[in-house]
Amino acid sequence: MLSSATMKPDSAPTPERSDFLREIVAADLVAGRHDSVVTRFPPEPNGYLHIGHAKSICLNFGIAAEFGGRCHLRFDDTNPCKEEQEYIDSIQTDVRWLGFDWAEHLYYASDYFEQLYEWAVHLIKNGKAYVDDLSADDIRTHRGTLTEPGIESPWRERTADENLDLFARMRAGEFPNGSRVLRAKIDMTSGNINFRDPVMYRILHAEHPRTGSTWCIYPSYDFAHGQSDAIEGITHSICTLEFQDHRPLYDWFIENLPVPSTPHQYEFARLNITHTVLSKRVLLRLVNEGHVHGWDDPRMPTLSGIRRRGFPADGIRDFAAMVGVARADSVVEIEMLEHAVRDALNRTALRRFGVLNPLKVVIDNFPEDRVEQVEVPNNPEDESAGTRAVPFARELWIERDDFMEEPAAKFFRLAPGREVRLRSAYFVTCTDVVKDDRGEVIELRCTYDPDTRGGSSPDGRKVKATLHWLSAGHALPAEIRLYDHLFASAHPGSGGRDLFDDLDPASETILTGAFVEPSAADIEIGQTVQFERLGYFCPDSDSSPAALVFNRTLTLKDTWAKLQAQGRHDSL
Ligand code: ATP
Ligand code: MG
Repeated sequence: MLSSATMKPDSAPTPERSDFLREIVAADLVAGRHDSVVTRFPPEPNGYLHIGHAKSICLNFGIAAEFGGRCHLRFDDTNPCKEEQEYIDSIQTDVRWLGFDWAEHLYYASDYFEQLYEWAVHLIKNGKAYVDDLSADDIRTHRGTLTEPGIESPWRERTADENLDLFARMRAGEFPNGSRVLRAKIDMTSGNINFRDPVMYRILHAEHPRTGSTWCIYPSYDFAHGQSDAIEGITHSICTLEFQDHRPLYDWFIENLPVPSTPHQYEFARLNITHTVLSKRVLLRLVNEGHVHGWDDPRMPTLSGIRRRGFPADGIRDFAAMVGVARADSVVEIEMLEHAVRDALNRTALRRFGVLNPLKVVIDNFPEDRVEQVEVPNNPEDESAGTRAVPFARELWIERDDFMEEPAAKFFRLAPGREVRLRSAYFVTCTDVVKDDRGEVIELRCTYDPDTRGGSSPDGRKVKATLHWLSAGHALPAEIRLYDHLFASAHPGSGGRDLFDDLDPASETILTGAFVEPSAADIEIGQTVQFERLGYFCPDSDSSPAALVFNRTLTLKDTWAKLQAQGRHDSL
């Protein structure tokens, strides 16, 4: 007869990739410590999510999906002074955009305020919490340091009855902000400072986005966090390394309270990226002080910023997988993120023509009123993407950089007397150069070979360059916004510099006078295309049919591959 123990699966589902967290989860399932895995992503709604959060989202939702469990989205909304509905909404939009779904498991720490209050009362009754009348400053100085023990508060030995009375009156709103707190009564001499009677509740007469004015005392993050996990039955509570020293405190609360489950916390290294700051506090300053145009400025590392910039969600997920999960902090090069995004875009982005810095070309032997529709492949990497018709006529725009009157040694593009291919159209030869009074080239005269239609010659004649082009009479004007790293320094604020001095004033360049092919008007917001030979671009949220605006997502040049070849891709 089979015992129930032998009926347990002897191997957990094998995830696509492995790391120390996935190994822990797999081992727990095999050993039967949990029947299924429950994780959570617990943002505080005090700002927009950034790409560091994306790593945590991919990890928590990814592990849950790979092991057939579930992941909760829980707002850690315990500080009404900094939290707003706008942030709650944007966080949900961003998690969904990244491709994850919490189904019905949307929670708020504020839903647990009553339960947390009861548990605080439970600790008071057991002599494990007390109301302290010391000021915030005194509490700080009494706490001691890493080398000095703390000093006990004179209010530490209040009776349980007195504490219960005072705590109830704190809740009832009898006392002003900052006049009293509830503290856990643990050990003022502990080597772990988190054990030195941490604050559990503070008085804050503030309107909460969800509970309004119901409460005027709010639990600390340390008191709310582990208990929220316990209420939700979280099996693996995954967070970043800075909470490692808090883990013994979370465990202490769990051991001393009648909680319905006992979650365990595991810590991993937070994501850092060169040329980037991943801290909501700093991002908020960038927005409030006007260094950027808003949370969704395309230079911001927020998910709303990189979405507006044209980074696709699958590129971000690929990046998170490439970064992996480590136990030690490191800095990842931004070129690796850009590499993952280029890779994703290269597979899927439709190709279009745009000319950023136009130079007029007149094809002298092309009839004045003729317009030909040239078939151009939508994606040479993917035949199923089909082709589109692009109008070709006598007057064209080409990229100014694609012409040199006196070509340098390795310049194979257009020059006087030279023949090149206009992509998918014809071979053309430059016959004359027209200049203005100041000697600047304003127009090229060319001839085309009618036998090269489609861009190949019947006699097997070769040309060394293929250029993109637009029909001047059909091209649409567009504003193009070029972006570079927000911070010029790879490690903003390092070496004692002010972080804000490292901002690159040239990180945004607005180009007017550019043109795009007619079909570019149909590109939807949220879709990124490749303007051939120039890079990836997407319509900005400011774009309208009357005034097209495109953001340059990235150029085509992959510098990460080069760094990797040099063996420099590891953390700096
Ligand atoms: P910030 O430091 O930017 O203010 P935070 O940690 O205060 O972020 P929370 O809203 O508390 O922001 O974070 C929600 C979750 O995201 C937490 O579990 C946190 O550990 C994780 N997280 C935040 N920043 C990063 C990062 N850079 N890399 C990986 N995970 C992160
Ligand atoms: Mg936090």
